Amino acid sequence: MSATKQVVVVGGGFAGLHLVRRLERRLQPGEAAVTLVDRQNYHLFTPLLYQVCTGELPPHAVAYPLRDATAPAGYHFLQTEVTAIDLEHRRVGTADGELPYDHLVIAVGSVTNDFGIAGVRENALPVKWLSDAETLKRHVLDIFESAATETDVARRREALTFIIVGAGPVGVELASSLRDLMDHTLRKIYPSIDFYDVAIHLIEGTDRVLPAMHPKLSAIAMRRLDQQRVRVLLNTLVSRIGPGVVHTKDGAQLRARTIVWSGGVKVNPLVVAIDLPKSKDGRIVVDDRFRASGRDDVLVLGDAAYFGKGLPQLAQVAVLEAPAAARNLVALVRGEPTEPFVYHRKGDLVALGRTQAGAEFAKLGGFVIGGLPAWTVWRVNYLMQLLGVRNRGTLLVEWILSFFAGRLVANTP
Ligand SMILES: Cc1cc2nc3c(=O)[nH]c(=O)nc-3n(C[C@H](O)[C@H](O)[C@H](O)COP(=O)(O)OP(=O)(O)OC[C@H]3O[C@@H](n4cnc5c(N)ncnc54)[C@H](O)[C@@H]3O)c2cc1C
Repeated sequence: MSATKQVVVVGGGFAGLHLVRRLERRLQPGEAAVTLVDRQNYHLFTPLLYQVCTGELPPHAVAYPLRDATAPAGYHFLQTEVTAIDLEHRRVGTADGELPYDHLVIAVGSVTNDFGIAGVRENALPVKWLSDAETLKRHVLDIFESAATETDVARRREALTFIIVGAGPVGVELASSLRDLMDHTLRKIYPSIDFYDVAIHLIEGTDRVLPAMHPKLSAIAMRRLDQQRVRVLLNTLVSRIGPGVVHTKDGAQLRARTIVWSGGVKVNPLVVAIDLPKSKDGRIVVDDRFRASGRDDVLVLGDAAYFGKGLPQLAQVAVLEAPAAARNLVALVRGEPTEPFVYHRKGDLVALGRTQAGAEFAKLGGFVIGGLPAWTVWRVNYLMQLLGVRNRGTLLVEWILSFFAGRLVANTP
């Protein structure tokens, strides 16, 4: 058997990509052959996905080529669907054959969770992948084209009603940005539409928006959504979604041509199929070195991992975990001792449309700010976090153009 260890990283999301980038700095040439596998050949920067949905950014701004992270380091990239993981024989099964490994990193993220609610998959638009964002944007623009010539008032109002289910960060940011799209771009170019006919409803099952964030951030978001005429329905549980209609558990029926589902995530089906100890929510339980079941050959991180008492499924968690997991992976390749990871939460950011945001700083004891200062923190933070000169350049230029010249509203394929 070759002395060079085979390292296979499954998933080029926040966890997998940042781990691979850290390996480049730590592994000596020839120590290990690293292969990154993903079904897409790009890393999706999900925190800005809602801006693709609402025409603030083009899709390529939030897609970073994975080969840019692998080729310069001498690593391999394989674009394929991973279909199975054989822990016993140390093989990753893909649509294009099998990959043997000595060390495996599972970083496959999560998938949209419909909580078993009937009709979500068939009748609501998800916001998870880049194709979802492009579909949603096209759908919204199509709605405006047809509403521009619709003479029946009731039909026009129904067409111009948008329902977003789930008021976590994705739902809140999307609702706010959708209103901005209408107020600052569409209003100017659809003179035949009365924009008072446009209604945006945001449905949330708990008693506040952004339920996983600091209550002050929820309050800031509520005030802003109110200003933007987004109708927030709290303590409202969805029982079923039919074509153009949301049924709630208290018997109400809300009609809309556009229903967006931003209700949360669940474990990736690949993780479901792996025979390793799992948490109640199905994530793979890892120790403080990211080892699954104490095995030196399987590390798990990001959304797929259940670390400690269960860290939130967030990009910031995956990005913090990656350098520590990379350090441990190198130690395992070399047969050296590993080190525990200690998680230090940074805080939360939420965008609330044009010049508004909310920011909580964990290191300052949960200090919360809103308005323009928070918006500036939000923008600078994401500009810094995005990888790649081309992506950053596009982001900066498109943000400026969208702010001053309006959003991208040509309905291109
Ligand atoms: C719309 C949206 C907005 C978000 N906004 C924020 C935010 O503002 N801040 C924040 O901290 N978090 C945010 N999150 C959460 C964040 O995206 C996740 O927590 C983070 O992406 C998890 O990183 P990961 O590497 O575990 O998974 P991912 O980043 O999802 O990466 C998983 C990768 O695995 C690949 N993959 C999965 N299954 C297979 C397979 N079978 N075969 C091949 N490849 C596969 C996928 O293509 C993907 O590239 C957001 C999530 C969404 C959906």
